[in-house]
Amino acid sequence: MRLAFPIVRKTKIIATLGPKSMSPQMISGLQKVGVSVFRLNCSHLATDALGTAIRDVRTNAPTAAVLVDIRGPKLRYAGPERKLQKGAKVMFGLAELGLEGIAGSLTRGLVVGERILLDDGRIETRVGAVEAGNVEVTVVAGGTLRLGKGVNLPDTVVEGSVLSEKDHADLIVARESGSDIVAVSFVQRASDVEEVRSLLAPGQLVFAKIERPQALAQIESICAVSDGVMAARGDLGVELPYEQVPSAQRQIALAALRSGTISICATEMLESMTTSNRPTRAEVSDVTAAVRDGFDAVMLSGETAVGADPVGAVRAMARIAESAEAEVSMPNWFADANPEKAAVTAAAAALAKRINADRIVSITNTGYSALLLAACRPSCPIVAVTPRPEVARWLAAARGVSAVVVERDSEISRTIAEGIASARDAGMVDAGERLVICASRLGPNSDADTILLHLEP
Ligand code: PEP
Repeated sequence: MRLAFPIVRKTKIIATLGPKSMSPQMISGLQKVGVSVFRLNCSHLATDALGTAIRDVRTNAPTAAVLVDIRGPKLRYAGPERKLQKGAKVMFGLAELGLEGIAGSLTRGLVVGERILLDDGRIETRVGAVEAGNVEVTVVAGGTLRLGKGVNLPDTVVEGSVLSEKDHADLIVARESGSDIVAVSFVQRASDVEEVRSLLAPGQLVFAKIERPQALAQIESICAVSDGVMAARGDLGVELPYEQVPSAQRQIALAALRSGTISICATEMLESMTTSNRPTRAEVSDVTAAVRDGFDAVMLSGETAVGADPVGAVRAMARIAESAEAEVSMPNWFADANPEKAAVTAAAAALAKRINADRIVSITNTGYSALLLAACRPSCPIVAVTPRPEVARWLAAARGVSAVVVERDSEISRTIAEGIASARDAGMVDAGERLVICASRLGPNSDADTILLHLEP
């Protein structure tokens, strides 16, 4: 049986599932209108429900990738409602600020003068003293603090693991249920990513969510150990002054491009479509900017999880991305930074541009050389031919890549012929197209070693 994972546009769309979209009909409907990756947000999903949700996506969108987004140390206010006046000194219990579980780490990190931001940054306080289970703060910008509001510590480095007990439980489910990608919240350093990788099965991808200034400062080393990075602009826009978010976003995109790491731009991309049937002009510009920045994927959160019309939001995202990428021609940042690592794939990408090829067909086993090709940001789409359905699924997150699953023949020419035939059957290659074939035969996880030209009859 041939299995095909077609796409129509280069920029991938990730949709967050939630109460408005968790049904079988919605999942398959969202995939039909252009979702390549489904995100399950563990901040709003009990561990018991996670396994079922992963299976539901597999059943109803079998060629889409599943991304499990683990909560990490997301802090929420757990005390009574309080009115905080500017200039007042206020005492909070560590438990009230949601800090109890990581207090051991924090007492080394929480320092007098550091900021504690409440209610997504609307209320600003500074640490005055930390003592036996309490922290005294001075209110810099006041407001009313209510139960469940977000707590952020932008200046504080949390020592030790970023993983909570729930994260550990969710990671077991993600591993056992075979999710394709795990995204790690509130990463601060490369070792946070490595810790999560050590808890997953080989072949499961780990993406780092960049939402802390500490992570931004180490973006290169985090990219080096991550399969993907996400510009998680929700918390990033709280922990950084909001006017710095666009340049942080570019910094993340560029670091990912240079290291060949998959990149996602996330949060509030079409926020108004949670209730409206049209995006604002500013949102259209925002999605366009993310495509121009070179992100592999753009993500919808509340728009598809709790929004009025999840399918409409994906359709709008697809329209904007397609229109934006029509005018984007990207330099090969990756090959410039890694001349030897991607020598052959970069040559294939350059050749495709020079001869105005319609597609590059990437014969890949582990997906590695298809990913190298995608990192080169060729001007035309890439069809990956792999024997492994799980590779075809995660390649769904990479810019410009669609995939067919075809058994590998010991004779490469037969694999190429079978791959092209499968792609043609799936409508991914048309008659008369000029193809650049880029094959990796010599070893797994290596650059390609063969380039061929093919004119489809
Ligand atoms: C974000 O903060 O932008 C983000 C994607 O994370 P979450 O939705 O888990 O807050």
